[in-house]
Amino acid sequence: MISADMEGATGVTWTGDVIPGTEQWQRFRRLFTGDVNACVAGLVAGGAKEVMVNEAHSSQRNLLLEDLHTSARMLTGRHKPLSMMQGIDSDVDGVVLLGYHTGAGSPGVLAHTYLENSITGVWLDGVHASEGRLNAALAAEYGVPVLLVTGDDLTCEDAASYAPSAATVAVKECVSRYAAVCLPPAVAFSHITQAATAAMASAGRGEGVVSPHRIEVEFDATHLADAAAVVPTVELIGARRVGFDAVSMTEAMKAFKVVTHVAAGAVEDIYG
Ligand SMILES: [Zn+2]
Repeated sequence: MISADMEGATGVTWTGDVIPGTEQWQRFRRLFTGDVNACVAGLVAGGAKEVMVNEAHSSQRNLLLEDLHTSARMLTGRHKPLSMMQGIDSDVDGVVLLGYHTGAGSPGVLAHTYLENSITGVWLDGVHASEGRLNAALAAEYGVPVLLVTGDDLTCEDAASYAPSAATVAVKECVSRYAAVCLPPAVAFSHITQAATAAMASAGRGEGVVSPHRIEVEFDATHLADAAAVVPTVELIGARRVGFDAVSMTEAMKAFKVVTHVAAGAVEDIYG
């Protein structure tokens, strides 16, 4: 399975590159599809019999189905219970976190966690967490290894801390949150294919481990924390911070999704 996000795709460095409907987005969805196809080609060369691509960015309608590698199938569209990781609870032998980025409050190209802004940090069991760390913990609950992570160089460093056995491919080198030194697509695609082929050696589902988890979320304004704290089980633990406990990572991610939706609904123009 490939969980495909866009901020960490080849060449992407800026808001316009990833916001559906813009001219730049139309251009970068081709490069994003190129990263995915390069990964599919590598996984198949490494022995994968089927590859499911789960669209994980924004409207979750970014990849070009008409250009998709013929060995893959694609889950497109929003409102999936497990969101970026929909399908991880099926018969999956490995997951690639493709086009990922660092978490809110960390350095990295287009760094954020779920909301593009408003969230200043997320902690999983006390550890500052990116989407990669959260989703790797979810994969672990189903015994699914993270095979490969792609994104900027800082995303690869982050991956080394939460999925040390995963391969990584840096398709760009972070200079600022909105600037990077980028590889030409043909070079990036080649690196992704090679890494995906080799990473298939680590494929194979193991025993999942279900355990309780705690997530804390910090916002950039007090009213967003107040709004999120209305959600059952979510407590206000600071002026701009909420926390909640869940019996499993699956439940934790569902609650996190609700928290982000409720907070996003409370954001006002200009003042946030
Ligand atoms: Zn993301």
